[in-house]
Amino acid sequence: MTYQALTRGGQPWQPLFLQEINAHDCIGCGRCFKVCGFDVLALKAMTEDGDIVDLDSDEEIEKKVMTIGNADNCVGCGACSRVCGKNVQTHGPAEIAVSV
Ligand code: SF4
Ligand code: SF4
Repeated sequence: MTYQALTRGGQPWQPLFLQEINAHDCIGCGRCFKVCGFDVLALKAMTEDGDIVDLDSDEEIEKKVMTIGNADNCVGCGACSRVCGKNVQTHGPAEIAVSV
C-alpha cells in the first residue's frame, strides 16, 4: 500500500521520498543539504575508482558527492529536488505494510 498524507486543510498530498542520488553526476554543491531539515543527506567523497568514502579519508579524492545518510528520516517534501540544478535525484512514493 502506498503511503499517502493530507495537507493541514485535509486535501490529499502524496509525499515523494528521496530514493537515490546519481553519485557520478552529482557535483557535491551542498544545496540539497542546506534545505533539508530532517538530517537525511550526508556529504561524502568519491575516489578516482568511483568508490564513495568519508571526506576525511586518506584515499585520493576526485570530488565531493551527496549521499543519503538517513533515508528513514525523509518526509518526502521534495525541497532537495527543487534546488538541485543537476537533476540527479530520484524521488518516489513509499510502500507501507498494513496488518489486518
Ligand atoms: S524530500 Fe525533504 S525530507 Fe526528504 S531528503 Fe529531500 S528535503 Fe529532506
Ligand atoms: S543539489 Fe544536486 S548536485 Fe548539489 S549536492 Fe545535492 S544532489 Fe548533488
